[in-house]
Amino acid sequence: MHGPRESLADQPLRVGGRVEGEPACGERPLPSHLVSYFCSFRALIPRTMRVYFDNAATTPLDPEVIQVMEHTMRHTFGNPSSIHAEGRAARALIEQARKTVAQQIGASVGEVFFTSGGTESHNTVLKCSVRDLGVERIISSPTEHHCILHALETLEKQGVEVVLLPVDEYGRVSLEALESALKTGGKKTLVSLMHANNEIGTLLDIDAVGALCKQYGALFHSDTVQTVAHFPIDVQKTPVDFLAGSAHKFHGPKGVGFLYVRSDVQLRPFIDGGSQERNMRGGTENLYGIVGLAKAFELACTSLDARRRHIADLRQYMKSRLQEAVPGIRFNGYDAEEHLYTVLSAAFPPSPKSEMLVMLLDIAGVSASGGSACSSGAETGSHVLKAIGADSSHKTIRFSFSHFNTREEVDFAVEKLKEILQPTPAKAPA
Ligand code: PLP
Repeated sequence: MHGPRESLADQPLRVGGRVEGEPACGERPLPSHLVSYFCSFRALIPRTMRVYFDNAATTPLDPEVIQVMEHTMRHTFGNPSSIHAEGRAARALIEQARKTVAQQIGASVGEVFFTSGGTESHNTVLKCSVRDLGVERIISSPTEHHCILHALETLEKQGVEVVLLPVDEYGRVSLEALESALKTGGKKTLVSLMHANNEIGTLLDIDAVGALCKQYGALFHSDTVQTVAHFPIDVQKTPVDFLAGSAHKFHGPKGVGFLYVRSDVQLRPFIDGGSQERNMRGGTENLYGIVGLAKAFELACTSLDARRRHIADLRQYMKSRLQEAVPGIRFNGYDAEEHLYTVLSAAFPPSPKSEMLVMLLDIAGVSASGGSACSSGAETGSHVLKAIGADSSHKTIRFSFSHFNTREEVDFAVEKLKEILQPTPAKAPA
């Protein structure tokens, strides 16, 4: 965590957790004559401050993760399936990483499978449950991530009954509605409900949902991509059959994640190939990604409480600063009780600039997103905001934080917002 800095103008530019100009781990520094040559030009360019408030989309790599990955890249190249020394060394790292993940979620090592991330893990659960476990009905919600909703569309076309439970104005699913859906049907059912919504931060009581599923004999899968490594998760206590994590949401590398499958549930591979991942996922393992994932997970869990306190404080600070600075601002999601403390979804009242807020903030040096990363590029409108019936005259911006952020960055972002939103003075008549 960073302590207070002198002034914003003096702040160095952070690039993925490191400061611009400093060599990343293992990079060879430039010779000093070249450094002074480049610096003389750089002095002519106004120094721009950048604040990264889009950590729900992805997080910068932790420098310690980079270090471990780089060390592995330099020293371990074997194919984990090979039986010779190089292969065995790679295999040992993967099994050590599996042990780390299993320990952090209270699972046994045989219940953890490495994948390419959240999307693959969720597709595996939904599609393989139908194919291998006789699931004929899936109960979910309209605010799930697109990788769940689009997989459900595919399954529905194949004849699976899909029930999307309604959500209230805060994005909450009612346990009563879930129970009455579970009571009806008489079909083998899978419930797939996300632990925390990535756009508005509403949290689900997964213990209560898991208990209901158990009571009615349904399987339970939870998209825990936004909560793994941010909240303690213990599969010994939470009755869940499947959950998933994605390393890039907790300062690990992109393109690697894991899937937890309870030991008494038998799935066949989603990706056919060799016998990797104990026959559950074909393809040579992403050794460097897996090593990075385990390191990032370990670091996050070791300092979970400290990070959580820091991030929750930043979120609350930003919320109150925005309330002072922007009359009529509202916030999406349910945060009266526990909520996803990394996400602040702010709905800005109509103004001539509000439609372009994400872009204007970017130009001003602040990275945030309009809803989620997936919807911000396409600007098709967020399915989550639609599902909660959000007032479409307000423009929603999602600010999402990590332990690398500071209160000074919040001040910077709020000042930039104030500048952007202040009314343009009318031109005096000539
Ligand atoms: N589920 C949620 C809630 C997410 O936020 C994301 C990523 O944005 C995913 C799933 C997909 O994860 P991945 O990017 O690892 O495929």
